[in-house]
Amino acid sequence: MAVVYINGKLYSNREDAKISVWDHGFLYGDGVFEGIRVYNGRIFKCQEHLRRLYDSAKTLNIKPPMSMERLEHELIETIKYSEMRDCYIRLIISRGTGDLGLNPLKCPEPTVVIIVDTITLFPAEMYEKGVEIVTASTRKNSSAATNPNVKSLNYLNNILAKIEANRAGAAEAIMLNMQGYITEGSADNVFIVRDGVVKTPPTYAGILVGITRNLILEICRENGIPALETNLTLFDVYAADEVFLTGTAVEMIPVIDVDGRTIGEGKPGPMFKKLLGKLRARTGSEGTPVWD
Ligand code: PMP
Repeated sequence: MAVVYINGKLYSNREDAKISVWDHGFLYGDGVFEGIRVYNGRIFKCQEHLRRLYDSAKTLNIKPPMSMERLEHELIETIKYSEMRDCYIRLIISRGTGDLGLNPLKCPEPTVVIIVDTITLFPAEMYEKGVEIVTASTRKNSSAATNPNVKSLNYLNNILAKIEANRAGAAEAIMLNMQGYITEGSADNVFIVRDGVVKTPPTYAGILVGITRNLILEICRENGIPALETNLTLFDVYAADEVFLTGTAVEMIPVIDVDGRTIGEGKPGPMFKKLLGKLRARTGSEGTPVWD
C-alpha cells in the first residue's frame, strides 16, 4: 500500500498526508526532490540519489535536518511499512514553513517527505513500439540562472515542455539550450546511436545528470560499446539510427519519430534492446536491501 512519511510521521491513508500551506515548497517551489525505484526489495542506486539530493539542497542552502545515513534509515523504514517490494519513491526536502515573504531565513526547519507508491508514465505498448516526440519551443533554463543540475521543486521549465508535447500529441518534448544544442526531455535524458556509437549531451549543455544516464554510459564502457558525451544538434537527432530516453521513472523508452522524422527503421533498434537487457540485469540484481 502507498505510504507517506512527513517529518517522522507515517500515513497510510493518502488523504491524511498533508503539509502546511506556509511551506515554501508550496509557496515558491523552494525545495529539492528525488525519484527512486525499488526493485524486488532493493533500493536501486540509493547512495547516488541521496548524494544528488544533498548536493541539490546544498546549492539552495537548505540544510537537511538529518544526516544522509539517517535519511536512508527513514527511507528503509517507510518502505518496510508499505510492504511494497517494487515501488517508486518520491523523496522531498523543502525549505519548510515560513511567512509569505520568500526569505529562506524565516524558515527554520526544512520539511522531509517520503512518498512510497507506484508510477507508470507510459503504457506498455509504447515501450514495445517506441514513442513519437517533438522539440519544445521553450528553451532550457540557462545554467547561469537556475542550474538544471539542481533537482528542485520548480519544474515549470519542464512542465512548459510537457505542455508542448501534449499539444502536439507526442509522448515527450526535448528541449534545446540557448545555443541550440540538445539538452534533455521534461523528465528524462536523451541518447542517440549512430554507426554503433552511443551519444548523449554533456553536463555543460545544461542537463540534470541522470543516474540512469550515467549507468548507461557505464554499461557501454563495460561492454566495449563506444559512448560519447558530446553536444548534439537536431540534425544529429534526425539523422540518428536510434534515439531513446532514460530516467528512473521512465527507465528506458525507444523513440521512433522526432518532429515528424522517422528515426532509423521506425522501431526499437538493436542497441536499445541490448542496453535495455543490460540495464534490467543491473536493476534486477543490485541495490540497498530493505529487508535483511
Ligand atoms: N532529466 C530530468 C529533468 C529529470 O527530471 C530526470 C528524472 N529524475 C532525468 C533527467 C533522469 O534522471 P534519473 O535517471 O536520475 O532519474
